[in-house]
Amino acid sequence: MASTYQGRRPAGGRRGGKGGRKGGRGGARTVALRRTAPVVREPVTLPAVLTIGELAEKLHATGVEVIKELMKLGMMATINQQIDYATAARVAEALGWETNPEESDLAGEGESFESRRTEAESDPDAKTRPPVVTIMGHVDHGKTKLLDAIRSANVAAGEAGGITQHIGAYQVDAQGRKITFLDTPGHEAFTAMRARGAQATDVAILVVAADDGVMPTTREAVAHIKSAQVPMVVAVNKIDLPAANPDRVKQQLSEIEVMPEEWGGDVPFVEVSALEKMGLDDLLEVIGLVADVHELKANPHKPAAGVVVEAKIDRTRGPVATLLVQSGTLNPRDVVVAGSTWGRVKAMFDDRGRRIRRAEPSMPVEILGLFEAPQAGDQFMVFADEKQAREIAERRAAQRRAESLTGTDRSFKLTEFSKEISEGGVAELRVIVKADVSGSLGAIQQALLKLNEDVPEGVQLSITYAGTGAIGESDVSLASATRSIIIGFNVRPDVAAKRAADASGVDIRFYNIIYNLLDEVKAAMLGMLAPVFQDVTDGYAEVRETFRLPSGDVVAGLYVLDGKVTRNSRARVLRSGTVMNEGSIRSLKRFKDDVRDVAAGYECGLGLDGFNDLQVKDQIEFFHREEVART
Ligand code: GDP
Ligand code: MG
Repeated sequence: MASTYQGRRPAGGRRGGKGGRKGGRGGARTVALRRTAPVVREPVTLPAVLTIGELAEKLHATGVEVIKELMKLGMMATINQQIDYATAARVAEALGWETNPEESDLAGEGESFESRRTEAESDPDAKTRPPVVTIMGHVDHGKTKLLDAIRSANVAAGEAGGITQHIGAYQVDAQGRKITFLDTPGHEAFTAMRARGAQATDVAILVVAADDGVMPTTREAVAHIKSAQVPMVVAVNKIDLPAANPDRVKQQLSEIEVMPEEWGGDVPFVEVSALEKMGLDDLLEVIGLVADVHELKANPHKPAAGVVVEAKIDRTRGPVATLLVQSGTLNPRDVVVAGSTWGRVKAMFDDRGRRIRRAEPSMPVEILGLFEAPQAGDQFMVFADEKQAREIAERRAAQRRAESLTGTDRSFKLTEFSKEISEGGVAELRVIVKADVSGSLGAIQQALLKLNEDVPEGVQLSITYAGTGAIGESDVSLASATRSIIIGFNVRPDVAAKRAADASGVDIRFYNIIYNLLDEVKAAMLGMLAPVFQDVTDGYAEVRETFRLPSGDVVAGLYVLDGKVTRNSRARVLRSGTVMNEGSIRSLKRFKDDVRDVAAGYECGLGLDGFNDLQVKDQIEFFHREEVART
């Protein structure tokens, strides 16, 4: 029953190996050379925050040179201290470099698993760290039971029975090695975190009940795990049941390209019973082997950085956050920026509520001391001084406010993709396909992939996930995390999915004729899909009276006849059926107050931008422009 894990690379299809390390050492000389013989060079790309040592390496300079430049800026710094982009850019400039900001961690993509690994690999002080594991699978297949069984079977003697878990993650000691489990089972939480730019999981356990087999959520979870390129281990659960049929599970999973090792694939399968606590040691052992293959490492000798697992406001203790340390060591009194909030760590607790004084890589901790509760998936980082931490947190908060006002810039639209292509950009179009029946789903998938043959080189379509049924929230979060568009064929989103898509700016396109679908996607891939806009009427109103303000501008007293007027509507002034003017709204008031909208049956005051000829009896049509699918 033990797994036959053979140290092959688990699922995920990772490309590239070691080597290819960027940036050399001994950079001081490079700088000296450049000063005598200037060369045109690529601007250097810098992340939102980095240590002085990292900056020096990127600039091919020595730490001392960077620190000297910082002193000129009035900053006393040490090599391990972290600075923000603005400061780093000034130093870079002083040393003769142009800079680009790396795509911000708020922009959705975040660092990839691979880049994090490469970074840790190239750090000479990196040490092996415990793997961080997330459990996924279909409802009722035993995720919660498995988490509970592993925890209760692996706590030190004397504590058993009395374990109450305090935080949303825990660490077990399995045969002398530590493994961290994130306690939010399900791929929704996993992908929601990814959509925020966090990659917390090193190994994903896919739980499949041996009596039930592969179910829709199992397939979804596989797509989410693969798109994140996280190694997978399959736990075939409930093997205690008479109806258990582990071979059928293997068969079904192999059909969706999760190939068991014993069948020549690269995914370890372990048979377990969470109920009978059977096979748990095997499972932990396999997780350990996978971790070994991937050489999970982090440098504990630097200020901590990681990800927020969960956070809440506690009535008596204030903001409480569970953090997963991913690199460095977190200590009490550290100054932490987490998402758009910050604070000084007042107290730290482990997963059993015990006060602790240090948290090393892969350890989950609960901390007190932040000013607000950050969001799950926010990244956190320790800073040397409070002033800098506060500034960064404030800047991020402002950036988030701006994003939520402008609708968010994480969105990815088919028309934008098309524009990129038409401007000569090389691009990959990722799509999630949902269809009503598997027959049409298969046909659409094939036809979409076939489009790759007829488009210019460098333009490529790939299918992130394809499934049947309504478009759900987890499709939207997967789209957002992978910058995919969603194609719905004869299906619509449910309410939650629609709301999530609006909030995250995910493009959902609906079709009921395959030809139209292919035509439009192909046009996009040829860079020829211009957006089509259509006016959508918000409401109608009639002018009842007009006033001239001291400024000379005219405002009208309106009665809203139908629909509503919103502050962002455009207004078309109609007089006896003729359009007199079309433009935007300067002011919309009820009594003395500015308002966002006014519904039918109410009166309001209206001023128009650049049009002062409003007359009693004019009718005004309010409308907005919406991008629509081409017909
Ligand atoms: P989740 O929805 O995936 O978290 O599933 P749960 O952990 O809540 O388990 C669903 C049901 O399956 C519960 O009634 C469990 O007691 C039962 N269950 C879980 N694991 C096993 C197992 O290994 N064997 C049997 N017979 N039942 C199990
Ligand atoms: Mg559960």
